[in-house]
Amino acid sequence: MIRILILMSNTGGGHRASAQALQAAFRVRHGQAFRVDIVDLWSEHTPWPLNRLPKSYKFLANDTPRLYKLVFEMSEKPELIAPIMDVVARFAERDIARAIHHYRPDLIISVHPLMQEVPLRVLQRMGRDVPVVTVITDLGTIHPTWFHPGVALCFVPTEAAYWQAVRQGLSPQQVRQHGLPIRLEFGGPPRPREHLRPALGLHADLPNVLLVGGGEGMGPVAKIAQALAAELAAGGAPAAQMTVICGHNARLRAKLCDRRWPVPTTIRGYVDNMWDWMAASDCVITKAGPGTIAEALACGLPIMLSGYLLGQEEGNVAYVLKHRVGAYADDPQRVAATVGRWFGAERDRLAEMAQRARAIGMADAALKIADDIATLAMDTADAARMPLEAASLGR
Ligand code: UDP
Repeated sequence: MIRILILMSNTGGGHRASAQALQAAFRVRHGQAFRVDIVDLWSEHTPWPLNRLPKSYKFLANDTPRLYKLVFEMSEKPELIAPIMDVVARFAERDIARAIHHYRPDLIISVHPLMQEVPLRVLQRMGRDVPVVTVITDLGTIHPTWFHPGVALCFVPTEAAYWQAVRQGLSPQQVRQHGLPIRLEFGGPPRPREHLRPALGLHADLPNVLLVGGGEGMGPVAKIAQALAAELAAGGAPAAQMTVICGHNARLRAKLCDRRWPVPTTIRGYVDNMWDWMAASDCVITKAGPGTIAEALACGLPIMLSGYLLGQEEGNVAYVLKHRVGAYADDPQRVAATVGRWFGAERDRLAEMAQRARAIGMADAALKIADDIATLAMDTADAARMPLEAASLGR
């Protein structure tokens, strides 16, 4: 059995979702031949205060976005990030080495921009020759720390990312482009919305607008919900129903559940069947999270972007607009008005965007990435066995 260790961080929901997608892809393709463990390296295997970093992400990104942008941009400068990484590697070395001893991986996959440099250094100090592979889980804006020339392979989501990788010193042989890995269920056979909606507690015959704010329920979700409900109710009979998924934001969920809504409205906390909710919907309103965008495209869902994390998600807005699969507005009233038009005068536009979305969706990215990594892992295992076999033959 070949052991794979996936390093991710519970910052938002996207890194975990991609890690789960890869784990499932190995199970589907290789059954028991691979054992794939997922660990949150920072939270579970670094000392304080590093292990608090994922928690500060939520605070920084949601409550102090300008500071978050500053940190993001400063960390793009190699002369600043390199010494920080050096200190971090020294500080966390013992704990990370312990994790590597524990999991005994034959190959490591990183699905986080800050998880190639430090593990590579620790492996080097341990004298362990374990290949590290990067799977990029961002879409439009890709932070330079993702591109580490010391990895065996680097999987990029788009052609633009491919060229960025090459510009940053990776060789073309190191870079593979299969898309952003999303959970395999998004690629399942399409199910009729009229059947799926009642199973989820929705009205069978009313189109559904899905409103989400990433894994943490970030952004002005409550304001958008209010404006959207008023817009959809404006013509008398509701033009559509609305579903709000609050993710881990319990406060948002409680607040929304307390309200009366003028259109049929369903409120949920964290759901673990996002593919069903998307398949039952006619469009999605979301911040520009790469995971949600990639999933919506695979489901053929037009995307109304209602905001983005400064720095990190700016390029995702450009990606959606360039491919004409959605629109962007940061004012909740304008978000609601745009979606209102999609269910009125602009119905044809909604259908065209849905078609284009499906055409660029990459539902099988996780399977293709897992196939390439499996080949690398098996080749590495064979190469490691060969000297032993040669030695025993010689005896
Ligand atoms: N997600 C989920 N259930 C929820 C809310 C979100 O599975 O209730 C998933 C969503 O499907 C996507 C991820 O969380 O895979 C969010 O990733 P994205 O990159 O959009 O934003 P992030 O949360 O990472 O900022």
